Amino acid sequence: MKLDLKIQPLSSWITAKAQPLLIAGPCSAETEDQLVATAHLLAATGKVTALRAGIWKPRTRPGEFEGIGSIGLEWLKRAKAETGLPTAVEVATAKHVEEALKAGVDILWVGARSTANPFTVQEIADALKGSDVPVMVKNPVNPDISLWIGALERINNAGITKLAAIHRGFSSYEKTAFRNEPMWDLAINLKTHAPELPIICDPSHISGNRELIPYVSQKALDMDMQGLMIESHIDPSVAWTDAKQQVTPSALSELIDRLTLRQPEVVNTQVKDALAELRNKIDKIDDLVIQKLAERMKIVEQIGNYKKDNGITILQVNRWDEILQKRSNYGKALNLHADFTEKLLELIHSESIRKQTEIMNAGQGEAPVQEQLTHS
Ligand code: PEP
Ligand code: MN
Repeated sequence: MKLDLKIQPLSSWITAKAQPLLIAGPCSAETEDQLVATAHLLAATGKVTALRAGIWKPRTRPGEFEGIGSIGLEWLKRAKAETGLPTAVEVATAKHVEEALKAGVDILWVGARSTANPFTVQEIADALKGSDVPVMVKNPVNPDISLWIGALERINNAGITKLAAIHRGFSSYEKTAFRNEPMWDLAINLKTHAPELPIICDPSHISGNRELIPYVSQKALDMDMQGLMIESHIDPSVAWTDAKQQVTPSALSELIDRLTLRQPEVVNTQVKDALAELRNKIDKIDDLVIQKLAERMKIVEQIGNYKKDNGITILQVNRWDEILQKRSNYGKALNLHADFTEKLLELIHSESIRKQTEIMNAGQGEAPVQEQLTHS
């Protein structure tokens, strides 16, 4: 399903100073000196396109630093006047929007906690009516692409056409190395719904620590995202918020230098031909995989009917354990990552169970397709 968004190209509202497009600045504006000095160092790298700073901070728990508030707008004005960098702030209420627009902030963004709440998004959208300020919409905290799309639509319906999405990762129950799971497939899914919508990656909030930022940044560029938003503080060790994930302007500059920029379009015809041949091979294998899966499902149906006729339960744990064990070992021997083989088998198995449930309970309503299969 293609989304009906009216969007102006990124280049119509932001001109990258260098590649990749980079929005940088502290998580929070803390003092006038901290913000202005950070802005000067960032501008001096020659790599930063816009200065970000949170002045109203949505905090999970009360009592934490909730942002310096409107006074920060004056500091941003000064930073812009002295460095020439356009400014970007997070807005979460109609009042924030009004104040930011009045103060001449160049770009607004909607934070992850706000995107998760349609009432908040609508309030922001209503306050934006009549303005043509660029707005970036972060993905919601929870991995729900509809909320992300809904927020983009609400802002777009308010007449904002200078629109971008920010991928900042998602909360997940499982604790992993990331602060927020990237779930790249969700960002890619958004891209397929709205190919003209620019997506900027926020490796800082995905990583949650400095060490992972280069890896996530490179991956974002390889996924053909249009730019990066990275938190940078003049002295991260004393930052009032997100201290572990902020980098100094000079560390940011080095990090950017180490990234590899690749072409989304292949220009060299020799490379193009070689790639086409390899893709051709992949297409044939994919067709075979699908065909074999369909064959497998036909057999699953036969088994389902057999179990039904003989009053046998659908799930036989031992059999499933055996499949998992044998195939994982086989996959390992063929150089497939154990995790990958397991996930693939689980997906196939859950569809097999769904099919058999349908057969066993014919006439009692259809079994829902497993969550993984509709995950979009
Ligand atoms: C931020 O950018 O500082 C921020 C609060 O991010 P998020 O909304 O992604 O949590
Ligand atoms: Mn932050």
